[in-house]
Amino acid sequence: MAITRIIDRCRARLEDVEFGSVRDWKARHPGGKAVGCFPVYTPVEIIHAAGMLPVGLFGGGNTIELANADARFQSFVCSIAKTTLEMGFQGRLKLLDGTIFSSICDVARNLSSVMARNFPELQVEYIHHAQNMTSPAAVDYVESEFARIQRNMERLAGHPVSQEALASSLKTYNRIRGALRDLYRVRRESPHLISTVELYVLARSGTLVPPEEHLGELMEVLALLHARQDRPKDRVRVVIESAFCEQPPLDLLQVVEEAGCYIVDDDLLTGWRWYVEDVPEDLPPLRALAESYIRQSVYSSVRHDGPRSRTAGLVEKVRRAGAQAVIFMPAKFCEPALFDYPLFRLALEEANIPHLVIEFEEKMWTFERTRNELETFVESMLFD
Ligand code: SF4
Repeated sequence: MAITRIIDRCRARLEDVEFGSVRDWKARHPGGKAVGCFPVYTPVEIIHAAGMLPVGLFGGGNTIELANADARFQSFVCSIAKTTLEMGFQGRLKLLDGTIFSSICDVARNLSSVMARNFPELQVEYIHHAQNMTSPAAVDYVESEFARIQRNMERLAGHPVSQEALASSLKTYNRIRGALRDLYRVRRESPHLISTVELYVLARSGTLVPPEEHLGELMEVLALLHARQDRPKDRVRVVIESAFCEQPPLDLLQVVEEAGCYIVDDDLLTGWRWYVEDVPEDLPPLRALAESYIRQSVYSSVRHDGPRSRTAGLVEKVRRAGAQAVIFMPAKFCEPALFDYPLFRLALEEANIPHLVIEFEEKMWTFERTRNELETFVESMLFD
């Protein structure tokens, strides 16, 4: 079926450790530049408006052996930081001309400095996101930070970025986020029509191609989904939380589904779906992005709270998704996720929502113990 063919193509792109799709883009755009975007959130519109390709930088997964990165980081650091650095040492990031990190945690901050020191040919940028989301000056501050990134992207691209180009990029990414919201809605309402593994592969592979191509794939899948004939199964509806930065192995997501869960919402790749509504198209583009960052971005353990806390955000997400439970899936040694867990747990207990914790690291090969834990959890829910 056509939908399976699209997903297979996306999966092949995702599993290509040589970033073949980025190489192809560069071959088609002589002199074109690619900018790696480390999680969680990057204003990709600015990169795209400068005529460059934003590329999701999510570490090496289980495809890379650490030979050098271990010597630059302590042992108690998440895998994504180490494998991203190792990719640099092994020459796998040579096709990138720049990278953008942001103030999500100490590890990301240190990684950006280590990258800048070890790879001077790479233009390394660091975004200081707002710390005080309720300050009257917050939008002005974020706008000025995005303007600084724009100037630095202009320097990398070698030409200025026009307001028209920014406005057009903003529209393109609004459409992508809108299509992803639609796909998330379909999965929430009819999780038997699209699995989380499929949705994730589709969304993540989109971080490796121009947004126009990604949008085309999303629209194609949306148009084809209604023809799927699968029947709903008796499964537990769960929300996955804490997987916002380092991404869990695909096999782990598959095990969750095989163990009898429908994942009806998640925070996977959350930075690429950051805004809960369209970014306004009738404001100056950077102002619109800044307003949206402060007023209509998703809650996250790496974003400071606005008027509503992230614990309330999680409970609301569970209710909205009609979920019965939460599966916390923090990356091993991910401090923002692990620091938030006790707060989330308290809020869930107060709301009478069961949960399970499954910690992961990129190099996970066996999932049998996790499968057993999940199956026990699912049985306890189904036969309670
Ligand atoms: S996985 Fe967690 S600790 Fe590691 S870089 Fe991401 S947010 Fe920071």
